[in-house]
Amino acid sequence: MRKKLTTEILEEWLENVRPYAYDGQVADYIPALSKQHPEDLAVAIYYLDGECIHAGKVETCFTLQSISKVIALALALIDNGEDYVFGHVGMEPTGDPFHSIYRLEQHRPSKPLNPMINAGALAVSNMIHGVTPDEKVGRLLSFIHEMTDDHSISFNREVAFSEFETAFLNRSLLYYLKQHKVVTGSVEETLDAYTKQCSIELNVMHLSKIGALFANDGKDLNSGRQIIPKHFARICKTFMVTCGMYDASGAFAIKVGIPAKSGVSGGVMGSVNGFGGIAVYGPALDPKGNSVVGLKLIEMLSNRYDLSIF
Ligand code: GLN
Repeated sequence: MRKKLTTEILEEWLENVRPYAYDGQVADYIPALSKQHPEDLAVAIYYLDGECIHAGKVETCFTLQSISKVIALALALIDNGEDYVFGHVGMEPTGDPFHSIYRLEQHRPSKPLNPMINAGALAVSNMIHGVTPDEKVGRLLSFIHEMTDDHSISFNREVAFSEFETAFLNRSLLYYLKQHKVVTGSVEETLDAYTKQCSIELNVMHLSKIGALFANDGKDLNSGRQIIPKHFARICKTFMVTCGMYDASGAFAIKVGIPAKSGVSGGVMGSVNGFGGIAVYGPALDPKGNSVVGLKLIEMLSNRYDLSIF
């Protein structure tokens, strides 16, 4: 068992990275996200023995955005099994920006390269069982309630609506995928479910607990209940390594070396077997869409505690 950090050290580290809070840009392509404040920084570590230490604005809630792609993948695997999911979405990293469209044309039969880019995530969202978008999102929320043991978690309607109204690129990805039968049903309803999924709102303590559950091979830390089958938890962590940080995943694997997933709201979730879950919130993003403060802090943690899985 690795030595634990103290809250004081975590607070000190957060202050050390605070100057980077203005080194990037808060996302504004989803208009509602631009209201986030660059200095609302928070970090939490959830150890496998159930202890959670944290620093900063830990009560501040933020939307999951692309971090939801990992959780939705776990649920889609539970709902449909591995063969069905990977019959529609590939397993290879793209090295392209998360919203890129152009590789869809390059592969026949046309299928998104992986579930962490938007094209793949839209297809995964479409696979979650449920007749209506609200039923699908409701099931995803129940899944998150189970993982966090907090039944008050919901989605932010303003952020969901703001993305739904402006998601022209995601709409075009969906029309393309529908043409090629990767998604079924209504494009607008799938986009409705996806934007609500991305707008699920929680804080770093919740997120670090989800990271810890993945690190614990899908088992609830308190009850020992298998919430995600071990094999599916492993699939999710593998995608986090190969494509969790968009087209910065290679550099992140070298510098930090842990399974992690970021979102354009500025959240990052890390998951380290034998250690626990890590969550950082820092809304300013680098040009690839990763939290500047999040990357710095996780790199510091990884170096100090030798967390690299390689
Ligand atoms: N909802 C966002 C989108 O589809 C999520 C992207 C992200 O976090 N990278 O554009």
